[in-house]
Amino acid sequence: MKKVYLDNAATTALHPEVVTEMTRVLTEDYGNPSSTHFLGRNSRNLIELSRKSIAKSLNCSAQEIIFTSCGTEANNFIIQSSIRDLKINKIITSKIEHHAVLHTVQILQEQYGIEVEYVNILPSGEVDIIHLTDLLATADKTLVSLMHINNEIGTVLNIERVAKICKQHHAYFHTDTVQSMGKVTFDLQETPIDFLVASAHKFHGPKGIGFAFIRKGIVLNPILLGGEQEKGLRAGTECVHNIVGQAKALEIAYSSLIDDEKHITDLKNYTILELNKHIPGVKFNGNTEHTFYNVLNFILPFSSDKTAMILFNLDMKGIAVSRGSACQSGSTKPSHVLSEFLSDEDLEKPSLRVSFSHYNTKEDIDYLIENLKLV
Ligand code: PLP
Repeated sequence: MKKVYLDNAATTALHPEVVTEMTRVLTEDYGNPSSTHFLGRNSRNLIELSRKSIAKSLNCSAQEIIFTSCGTEANNFIIQSSIRDLKINKIITSKIEHHAVLHTVQILQEQYGIEVEYVNILPSGEVDIIHLTDLLATADKTLVSLMHINNEIGTVLNIERVAKICKQHHAYFHTDTVQSMGKVTFDLQETPIDFLVASAHKFHGPKGIGFAFIRKGIVLNPILLGGEQEKGLRAGTECVHNIVGQAKALEIAYSSLIDDEKHITDLKNYTILELNKHIPGVKFNGNTEHTFYNVLNFILPFSSDKTAMILFNLDMKGIAVSRGSACQSGSTKPSHVLSEFLSDEDLEKPSLRVSFSHYNTKEDIDYLIENLKLV
């Protein structure tokens, strides 16, 4: 069966060079990084070289990078620890965050009685930065948690601007950069972000590994106890092959960024053109000129009873797309992100998220459109 993978915001295919590197580590570099003998020292060295390589890409110091098992863990770690260790009593976030942030904030609100405020979402699906500034005016001991690229609609937050606003108001700034890591450049010397998170499987690296950036000088307590790994913050024997695979994937992503961005942007524009040509009445969620280059979310002008069948039909044809975030794609409930800015009528209609990678081609898009026309 033909296979067309257009769900790269959910996860990405491993880069072949990453597989080679990881296979080598799995077979040859099996020492426990905490062992003092040559095999242990070799594994330790691989971990620290990986940390340095990531830090170099982000222009931060290696000690500011903490490896975690995924983006969800990194988000949980930062938000939960900020409340506990930095004595935060207010969180400002938005209703379009990933559930790894939203659910964590909701539980902390119940457990610790902290104040939570949600920044307004504009009709374009973007965060209202003027409202954020208003909310910060009266803020005390505050953590602002706003994602960089929205995983469902691809709206982009101006993190440089938000970081500066947070700094002016003495608030900590955490940004979920799971969707942007490896796809845009970061300069953490220039941009005063306090915390960011990433997940390797979103940039052609392995699943089960991510990292948190914690700015030097911010002291958080351990999340896992029982060892000195990750500066004592996260005990447990390190997953060396995943750590190496993550660093390799990020290095490749940044080395091919310009070409990949161009290729994917062309594909996105081609998809918009073809959808407009062949599916009259199609509507795009978010302003496509401003949404991120690898995500396209659109409403199909079909009746609501067709909603459930669309993904199924596309799946039968070997086309992998999604209705929203991966964790929601099996659900028939409207997406929590789209619910924030779509009318009830539009929410009833089927929305699809197509997310591209450099592996996609125009033929993939033609095949998608051909099959959408048959729905
Ligand atoms: N944050 C965002 C924006 C995401 O898109 C995802 C994954 O879809 C996550 C967090 C969770 O990352 P992970 O799958 O590594 O737990």
